[in-house]
Amino acid sequence: AVETAHNYVNAVFETVIKRNPNESEFQQAVKEVFQSLTPVLAKHPHYIKEGILERIVEPERMISFRVPWVDDDGKVQVNRGFRVQFNSAIGPYKGGLRFHPSVNASIVKFLGFEQIFKNALTGQPIGGGKGGSDFDPKGKSNVEIMRFCQSFMSELSKYIGPNTDVPAGDIGVGAREIGYMFGQYKKMRGGFEAGVLTGKGIGYGGSLARTEATGYGTVYFVDEMLKDHGYSYVDRTVVVSGSGNVSIYAMERASQLGAKVIACSDSSGYIWDENGIDINTVKRLKEVESKRISEYVIEHPHATFVEGCSGIWSIPCDIALPCATQNEIDKNAAETLVKNGVKAVGEGANMPSTLDAISVFLENKVLFGPAKAVNAGGVAVSALEMAQNSSRLAWTFEEVDQKLHAIMKNIYQQSKEAAKEYGYDGNLVVGSNIVGFKKVADAMIAQGV
Ligand code: GLU
Repeated sequence: AVETAHNYVNAVFETVIKRNPNESEFQQAVKEVFQSLTPVLAKHPHYIKEGILERIVEPERMISFRVPWVDDDGKVQVNRGFRVQFNSAIGPYKGGLRFHPSVNASIVKFLGFEQIFKNALTGQPIGGGKGGSDFDPKGKSNVEIMRFCQSFMSELSKYIGPNTDVPAGDIGVGAREIGYMFGQYKKMRGGFEAGVLTGKGIGYGGSLARTEATGYGTVYFVDEMLKDHGYSYVDRTVVVSGSGNVSIYAMERASQLGAKVIACSDSSGYIWDENGIDINTVKRLKEVESKRISEYVIEHPHATFVEGCSGIWSIPCDIALPCATQNEIDKNAAETLVKNGVKAVGEGANMPSTLDAISVFLENKVLFGPAKAVNAGGVAVSALEMAQNSSRLAWTFEEVDQKLHAIMKNIYQQSKEAAKEYGYDGNLVVGSNIVGFKKVADAMIAQGV
């Protein structure tokens, strides 16, 4: 049975490579999930008979569209927009929008594929989707951002809705962009459908604690993992890459729980202070002033700024939280972290470790929390935002934060138990993939081919 399952996985993976040539990120994301599934398919061969892998790797729908807009000099610009509606077996498509020059079909599909399993892991009724554009928000004026968001939503609005597909933010898309897109959606529809987007402003249907959710959730998950092995955050050194929404709130919550956050980064480089960095300064520089992280050392001259962001993983630390972007930790960086004695790694970003890097962590018995489980708090609170929108209620910060905490604990427990049940004790990569996969696969089978 194991061999049959193994051959099936390999055969489907071959077709994925053939059908999606040059999409290395998408292939990587599929491979990572597939590597976990042999024991499940061996134990439950009806998944093979149902052709579940062939079906799950093919998006239900992939939309690509032109986004024309006029810049401040009156020049016409054109970007490409995407939305992948990957899987709706357990609920409406749900997942963020990323605005970044690197966005292409491969990136959107890898993110959408991850989202299927991540969303299932939250235990909430949300399917998997993702979208975005190769638009670069860096250096754009507020009005250019608004015009871009309006043009993007003019097209996207034809394909989404509170019961169909519910986008949110991701890299380059925060409350401001969601606001502009929500305004445009409302104009196109002529009605107030609060549940069509999540991550909205608090005054018009947003949920308290959504901004904090991904970062806080990351810290809660890692806390469960640490406690389970007799550790805690207290007096532990933490390195957090990135300085966006995920990173900032991971730093905030980790330090509230007693950790010493000693470094963070942006795309230009990283700051490092062995005595701990001042998170409020980072927050102000990034959220209010939109400055580069290098400015931090002007206010805190005892900290160092180093150009280039990959070097951040050469800083010795107890806990590493990659919260920037995909493939930011390669094999080399993982080996350096291990050599320097890292105890735990929690992936706040989507797919921040390469497959080789994950192997290095697992082989060296580093406590490793995989992205789909660790960063699921963001989308989990998005689902809570949808629930508040459809019931026309607004919960308090504490209510939402408590629910988030319970969800993260539950994801940890379920992933741990599944890993054990299928013979991979302690391997949360395998455990979380199995939990997410089974929920989605069972729903797909129940609903027929
Ligand atoms: N972009 C986030 C993620 O990767 C959040 C998605 C959402 O809230 O829908 O999970």
